[in-house]
Amino acid sequence: MHQNYFDHAATTPALPEVREAVCHAMAEVGNPHSIHQSGRSMRDKVEWSRQEVAQVIGADDPQQIIFTSGATEANNSLLHLPQELWVSPFEHSSIRELSSKVLSNKGWEIEAGPMQGTVSVMAVNNETGAILTHPLSGNHNHSDLTQLVGKKQVTLQGLQSASFSGHKFGGPMGVGVLYLEDPSSFPALQRGGEQEFGLRAGTLNGPGIVGLGVAAAIVRQKNLDQEEERVRELRQIVKETLLPVGPHYNESENQSPWILSIAIPGVLAETLVIEADVRGYAISSGAACSSGSTEPSHVLMALGLPLDLIRSTIRISFGPSNTKESASGLAQCLVDSTKRLTKP
Ligand code: PMP
Repeated sequence: MHQNYFDHAATTPALPEVREAVCHAMAEVGNPHSIHQSGRSMRDKVEWSRQEVAQVIGADDPQQIIFTSGATEANNSLLHLPQELWVSPFEHSSIRELSSKVLSNKGWEIEAGPMQGTVSVMAVNNETGAILTHPLSGNHNHSDLTQLVGKKQVTLQGLQSASFSGHKFGGPMGVGVLYLEDPSSFPALQRGGEQEFGLRAGTLNGPGIVGLGVAAAIVRQKNLDQEEERVRELRQIVKETLLPVGPHYNESENQSPWILSIAIPGVLAETLVIEADVRGYAISSGAACSSGSTEPSHVLMALGLPLDLIRSTIRISFGPSNTKESASGLAQCLVDSTKRLTKP
């Protein structure tokens, strides 16, 4: 792994306990839907994970948890609802691209949508860490919890559905969750089998689901407030060290400390990302999900940030392995690179 990894909003390293559980499950044979002992053994593991996942987000019933291939698939499930879909301008592309009906905003504040249809507002923005408030104005309210689970206590109040991915909190990639308040009223996402209560046909990703369950169980044992305080300090170190290069912070009043979005005027984000990489620090430009795209970030556009600052925006996202020393090393590396790159 990268020596100094500061790109946890893109993905997190799988926890050692998760790796072990996944390998163990992979060594077993057994389709969770087979009735023989091997099948039942895998099914028990999957159902244990369903319970852990339900508890980590505070769902009433494990049957409200539908395992998917990730948050993207869970978000795309909104397309199956036969009604208008309204989305916040800050949604991840896996929701933003589903609809042209965009809720209006004043800064990070989302204005209430129509009193009908589906309304989707994410919990924490993946590009900047802004914490959003869902107006809960639709008859189906959805929230993308991807950048919240594992970091803060989740509340499902007022939501009819929610989504997240395992790999953002120490679980494996390619496995995630669609939470449904009332699964019986939701149309099938995939057809051709009775898996996932008839809502998502196809053999389950047994090992991945087991890994997700273990990651959820570990989150439940964590002191999230303490971890947040620790990360807040790292964030402050980076912010203070960067002051000499005149940074612009893309922050909201209600801000998650796990993500720091900064534009350093006069320096292209990609250049700084490569400079940092060469020196052993992994950060990203804007949102990693849209890197490779030449389009400016729709999130920063919606905030009215000038194009030159959007093109200069980098994202630092923290995780358990980051220390004060590595945070200060990263910030100093960014200051040095900026000074070199902007030298007349
Ligand atoms: N929603 C948010 C807020 C995200 O940050 C991401 C991952 N960048 C996704 C959805 C998509 O997750 P996945 O690629 O695991 O499906």
